[in-house]
Amino acid sequence: MGTTRIEDLVAPPVRRLQPYIPGKPIAELEREYGVHDIIKLASNENPLGPGPRARAAMSAAIAEVGLYPDGSGFELKCALAGRHRVPVEWITLGNGSNDILVLLAEAFLTGDTEAVYSQYCFAVYPIAVQAVGAIARVAPARPANDRMPLGHDLDAMAALVTARTRLIFIANPNNPTGTWLDGSSLLQFLRALPDTVIAVIDEAYFEYSRNADCADASEWLRELPNLVVARTFSKAHGLAGLRVGYALSQPQVAEILNRLRQPFNVSSMALAAAVAALGDPDHVSRTVALNRAGIVTLRSGLERLGLKVLPSAANFVLVDLGRAAGAAYEGMLRQGVIARPVGNYGLPNHLRITTGTAEQNQRAIAALAAALGR
Ligand SMILES: *Cc1c(COP(=O)(O)O)cnc(C)c1O
Repeated sequence: MGTTRIEDLVAPPVRRLQPYIPGKPIAELEREYGVHDIIKLASNENPLGPGPRARAAMSAAIAEVGLYPDGSGFELKCALAGRHRVPVEWITLGNGSNDILVLLAEAFLTGDTEAVYSQYCFAVYPIAVQAVGAIARVAPARPANDRMPLGHDLDAMAALVTARTRLIFIANPNNPTGTWLDGSSLLQFLRALPDTVIAVIDEAYFEYSRNADCADASEWLRELPNLVVARTFSKAHGLAGLRVGYALSQPQVAEILNRLRQPFNVSSMALAAAVAALGDPDHVSRTVALNRAGIVTLRSGLERLGLKVLPSAANFVLVDLGRAAGAAYEGMLRQGVIARPVGNYGLPNHLRITTGTAEQNQRAIAALAAALGR
């Protein structure tokens, strides 16, 4: 055997890559701590899970899983085209919207080009950019005492755009902060970008954000040929485990993503469930209503503990514990409540807590109170 280490063989951008840290799975907590009756409020999942129509579609789809899925996702794309009133050619399906983000990085970035995103942005953006060896330009976030604390600062992002910039990632509402951008500010920002930049507006929490003055970037697809809007079935539709999301864009961009995507990147079960979920607006309404109540409960309960809670247009709150969050996170785990530490986002004093059912929200507040000795 020689002396070459595997690490030396790795492509240079991958050497520095840190893996994504997901929320702790329930089975892992059970295994490690021996606790039972666990609730997971760590990954912004829907506490109701999929709706009845999606569940029925999944059951029916079992009969077909011996066959490859429709690689074009025709039926789902038609349903989405109808929903968004765009041609079918404007839709790209992804294995979760994460897949879309990675395809965009692969399509538009190389080692000598740049991507802009914000401090405290979704953790997948830095990974996707680094993986292809591109240069990341990270814009400082808004200050903690801002109206949108730790949220995206569009002026700071615009200031980082150069002739080498190819991609800008904006999550709206943003994860992990929950903060959002209004339509007029965001549209003004997008209109001012040079045509050498593809703007990605990640609207994973779109359905939850409708009661805030949060932008709907899908309204601008006709005006802006460099705009990509990413959406997902993982959050409000309750299909996180199936992995299905999509991009809306003009066809020139969609055609490029289509060259790169795996031929069968969305499973047949996911395609069937997503079509059914689009036809079940009642489930989304129930989900959004439950979340609205959950945000109120979590905010008031956590504020009663003397904690600072950031504004949220999504299905989670970010809470500032005013000290390192590790002990509180651990304390909650021991009580069977999984929250999300966000130290890897540069927020060591915060926890992100997803809204659950009414009962789960009360349990989360009580568990944090006990963990903090309050
Ligand atoms: C959860 C999330 C996604 C998407 O997840 P998928 O399950 O891959 O669709 C994308 N962007 C943000 C900001 C998210 O929080």
